[in-house]
Order: sequence, then C-alpha cells, then structure tokens
Amino acid sequence: EVPLVVDNLGKTYRNGFRAVRSVSFRVEPGQVLGLLGPNGAGKTTTLRMVLGLINPTRGTARVFGRRITPGASVLTRVGAFIEGPGLLPQLSGADNLRLFWQATGRPADQAALDEVVRIADLGPALDRKVGSYSQGMRQRLAIAQAMLGLPDLLILDEPTNGLDPPQIRRMREVLRAYAQDGRTVLVSSHLLAEVEQTCTDVVVMNRGAVISAGPVHELVAAG
Ligand code: ADP
Ligand code: ADP
Repeated sequence: EVPLVVDNLGKTYRNGFRAVRSVSFRVEPGQVLGLLGPNGAGKTTTLRMVLGLINPTRGTARVFGRRITPGASVLTRVGAFIEGPGLLPQLSGADNLRLFWQATGRPADQAALDEVVRIADLGPALDRKVGSYSQGMRQRLAIAQAMLGLPDLLILDEPTNGLDPPQIRRMREVLRAYAQDGRTVLVSSHLLAEVEQTCTDVVVMNRGAVISAGPVHELVAAG
C-alpha cells in the first residue's frame, strides 16, 4: 500500500477562509517529500487533515490504503511532529518517551528506544523535567517522540524551526537516513534551501494550492 495518497483535499475554516483549495499528491516508500511554501500557504492545514486532527471540507487522505477521518487512529504506523500539546512538562524527557510509546501501540524494544534517545541528543537532561528544557531541547524531544518505534510514515511540520545550525544539520542526516530503509518522510518547510538539501521530492504550495511537484533535482533545474 502507498504510504500516503492525498486526493483533492480542501479546507474552508469556519470563518469562511479557504486555507486549502484542492491539493493532491502521493508519497512513496523511500521518499523524503518536502511540502514547501511560504507561511500561510496551507501546509499545516494539509498535514492536520492528513493526521485526522481536523475534518477536510472536501477530498480524502489515505494512509496505507486507509481513509483518514478525525478520530481514526493511525498511531501505530504514523509518527507526527506538529504544533500542539505534545509533551508533559512535569515529567522527565525519558518518562515522556516511555508514556507516549505505551500510547502508540508500536512494538517497544530497547534498541528502538536507544535510537530515538540518540536522535533527541539531550545527554543527562533526558532525566530532568521537560519544564526546565529550552525550546530547542523540547523540539528535539518531540521529534524523537514522533520517531518512537520507527513508524513507517513520519510526518513533521517545520521541524527545524527554532533549532540552531548544527542541530539543523543533524536533523537533515536523521531524516535522510530514516527513509533509506523503505520508510517514508513527509516534512514541511518554508525554506527552499532546506528542502533541496534534505528531500528527494517536493510539492510546492502557495495560497492553498499545489503549484508544482516532482523530484527535487528537477525543481532545482527549473530554478
Ligand atoms: P474548524 O473550521 O475546523 O471548526 P475553527 O474555526 O474552529 O476550525 O478553528 C480551530 C482553531 O484554530 C481555533 O482554536 C481557532 O482559534 C484557531 N484559529 C483561528 N484562526 C486562525 C488562524 N488564522 N491561524 C491559526 N489558527 C487559527
Ligand atoms: P502554513 O502551514 O503553510 O503556514 P497554515 O495551514 O498554517 O499555513 O495556514 C494557512 C492559512 O489558513 C493562513 O492564512 C492561516 O492564518 C489560516 N488559518 C489557519 N488555521 C485557521 C483557522 N483555524 N481558522 C481560520 N484560518 C486559519
């Protein structure tokens, strides 16, 4: 089954604003697909529909062949980093990871836990309360949390916002490596250079519509 098929997805918010008009694309195994566009293009709205966090006004999203509706849990095969309450500040980073993992129903083996602890790169702070973390530390923990159990499809909304340049480079390597075992990554960004360096394929959005799509090297060639 194809990891993600988005078909004519659209969203008009209650205030009448058409944030997403009619967006279609698919993501194949092994791809790191960049959803590229300026702020306000509709990237987050699209990802929220794909994750079943909000209801589309029209169209469908299918994850591994299964149609997404709000409330339908895709937790086992899909990991996501998207703005929202995701971490519990009173608990340590390690306890946040453990608790979240139990909720996903993904297989819990020590090697996979070690892998995301390495990705979070928190050192001894892993055992401190998340409430004491810097913004960048929280972000790395939340991204690592999304990768717990190495889900087949990983969806990240602007994961490098708020990270410093060395952390951004690390994240780039992590995402590229992640997709190399036949897993799939969908990542949004407003930075062309970042998509060029991280992604295999790109969907460019502007004003709620897809304006171009294809392999990243073709985008670069087209200037
Ligand atoms: P829906 O049409 O799906 O019911 P709502 O209009 O209820 O969505 O908005 C959902 C949430 O998004 C609300 O909490 C609202 O405050 C927030 N929101 C409203 N306008 C914006 C905006 N321009 N950008 C980001 N969030 C917004
Ligand atoms: P992006 O992720 O590309 O920055 P968004 O999907 O967050 O784009 O937002 C697209 C547009 O929809 C923006 O103009 C934003 O203000 C608006 N928007 C987002 N959420 C809501 C909401 N809940 N109600 C009304 N408008 C919204």
